[in-house]
Amino acid sequence: MFVHPLLQLYQPQMKFLPLLVVIRAIAAAGLNLPFSLPPGITRLVGGPTLPFPQWLTDFTGLKEWPGLDPPFIPLDFIDFSKIEPANHHIQGQCDMITPTSCSFDCQNCVSFDDVYTCPVLSQTFDDGPTPATTKLLANLKTKTTFFVLGHNVAKYPDTYRQAVAAGHIMGSHTWSHKFLPSLSNEEIIAQIQWSIWAMNATGHHLPKWFRPPYGGLDNRVRSIVRQFGMQNVLWDYDTFDWKLNDNSKSAGQVVAEVDQLIKSRTHGLMLEHDMMVQTVNIGIDINKKLPSQMTVPQCIGGIDYIKRFN
Ligand SMILES: [Zn+2]
Repeated sequence: MFVHPLLQLYQPQMKFLPLLVVIRAIAAAGLNLPFSLPPGITRLVGGPTLPFPQWLTDFTGLKEWPGLDPPFIPLDFIDFSKIEPANHHIQGQCDMITPTSCSFDCQNCVSFDDVYTCPVLSQTFDDGPTPATTKLLANLKTKTTFFVLGHNVAKYPDTYRQAVAAGHIMGSHTWSHKFLPSLSNEEIIAQIQWSIWAMNATGHHLPKWFRPPYGGLDNRVRSIVRQFGMQNVLWDYDTFDWKLNDNSKSAGQVVAEVDQLIKSRTHGLMLEHDMMVQTVNIGIDINKKLPSQMTVPQCIGGIDYIKRFN
């Protein structure tokens, strides 16, 4: 079974969580801890560094960014009666999928408003920001589109702002990279709303473009994404750069296949990742070979963001 490389990024934090739960439980019980945390240390190593804004506290009643399963917060503009029905499925289990659900991950089905290609062969980068993103930003010769995870935005807000300042387009890739067709409506909404809030708290804007993790998209998920005013973005060429993570593909193979693609056509939307330095190096290599690219909004003549504040 394929384990997404992102899960590895989260492992260090997951190791800390049970300890925190234990500490909180002990503190709640009024017992003395056997040790104390150094003064001034309020956050776990590897946790969010982005301050939790007051407006979000006012709206949610919470005081810190959530973990990997964010809570559902009701929103006035989400009408549950407009959410289309579809059988829930986990990734790879496609036997219950009906044609009316228009599943991208099971049937390669796209809807009228899905973006999946571009008139000019162009890169896109998912799963950041990460420490590797900085190297990518320093070497990109074109404007590109990043599909970020809200959880990572809260962790690396400066890198996010750096990408915005360089003129790249920031789209949402959910809060914590869950396979959306397996989730409840409330869980899908939570994945989207928290991602948007992290982007807004950092870049002061509302994203227009949304990429579902693993391409997990059906008409139920679409009908939720549309209510946020966002548009789904897929791809028509997967570089499979994420296979470097389990050594099932080498960097040389990925680049050789992209070289063939560049020879065979001039249009398309490529899926890449800024999750680690190895995939970033590939991205930089490809970027040199494609000096004229478009961002996703440029591909279809769309807007960069739903709204910018400032
Ligand atoms: Zn992803």
